[in-house]
Amino acid sequence: MKSILTSALLLSTALGTVVPRAGKKVDYNGFKVLRVASTDDVKAQIENLAAHVLNPGRSAQLDVVVSPDNIDALTALVSESQVLNEDVGAALAEEGEVTAYAVPSESWFTAYHPYADHLQFLRDLQAGYTTQSEIVTVGTSVQGRVLTGIHIWGSGGKGSKPAVIIHGNVHAREWITSVTTEYFAWQLLTKYASDASVKALVDKFDFYITPIVNPDGFVYTQTTDRLWRKNRQTVSGNSCVGRDINRNWPYKWEAPGGASTDPCSETYKGQAAGDAPENRGLRTQVDSLRASRGIRLYLDVHSYGQYILWPYGYDCNLRAENDAQHRSIATRAQTAIRAVSGTAYTIGPSCSTLYATTGSSTDYTDVTGNSTYSYTYELRDKGTYGFTLPANQIQPTVRETWAGVVSMLKDA
Ligand SMILES: [Zn+2]
Repeated sequence: MKSILTSALLLSTALGTVVPRAGKKVDYNGFKVLRVASTDDVKAQIENLAAHVLNPGRSAQLDVVVSPDNIDALTALVSESQVLNEDVGAALAEEGEVTAYAVPSESWFTAYHPYADHLQFLRDLQAGYTTQSEIVTVGTSVQGRVLTGIHIWGSGGKGSKPAVIIHGNVHAREWITSVTTEYFAWQLLTKYASDASVKALVDKFDFYITPIVNPDGFVYTQTTDRLWRKNRQTVSGNSCVGRDINRNWPYKWEAPGGASTDPCSETYKGQAAGDAPENRGLRTQVDSLRASRGIRLYLDVHSYGQYILWPYGYDCNLRAENDAQHRSIATRAQTAIRAVSGTAYTIGPSCSTLYATTGSSTDYTDVTGNSTYSYTYELRDKGTYGFTLPANQIQPTVRETWAGVVSMLKDA
């Protein structure tokens, strides 16, 4: 029995990885999302059969996208499996069309948008508030796209207050995160004159918000593979593409267990610490703000799972020196989110709460960046739609998350 299973697996191994034909978009019709119980001895086989692993840091329980051809082989491997999504193609239809640009207004947050329109959104927003904002660039991607953000300040003048740094969409398929971070910028500027509580926040900090820090990956999710995660960097002598920019930060990059050394893995850490050009840009921003006004709060916005996490990722037993303050601020944010929509978040130090990560942003910003507070948000949902959250959930998500972030900004 065992040997039959093994040979069947060898045959189907090559089918797992999604390799789009030139000029063709990956067709996910009929693909399912399964949540499977995993063990160390079958994890590699599961990964080979999966088109994508959606939560690649997990070990005991994996959410995987599987083609119709590989479903039987995969379920035969594991002791338990649950169907999270019957048809990824149908879910993509529910996600809504990528919609052409409209002027900055609340309606921006009712659809997903092409990359060029995200840049235009920032430019148009900035153009409405030229005395208290500027467009900033945070380095350049592998394919030469400029990582573009907005810097927002208040009555103290440009660059006069401690920094709040917010990064979105480092993982390309996490589309909800770019619109959510854009909502933060939109709220800060459009409510400044009319809402005293927003004015108080803008006057307290200098905000640096970059909604899409992995533009090449993001564009690739729109042209070719909706479920792509990494950047688009190659490794000589290997046909697999992409580094995980959030396993590439040069702090505890070399520590074992929280990233992969396999270029084909979703969590490939790179060949050397900080060797992704996107990462170089992001850490230059962190380093320079540390050296100038200092960093009060860093937020790295991801999906999915509904978590608020803080350092450390690389060691499950280690706690930040201000772990208690991290927890109390996160607890209030969790309450603020629940008050808006009832959405339940889980909070805690990232390694012990979710899974181990090495070379991650928040470990770097906490230690090397000396940020007072560093958090990872994992936005909606808990796996039903996963990365392909329907367009009708964008507004509820950005509004509840904003409530959490306002709570954090008041406390920080
Ligand atoms: Zn992510």
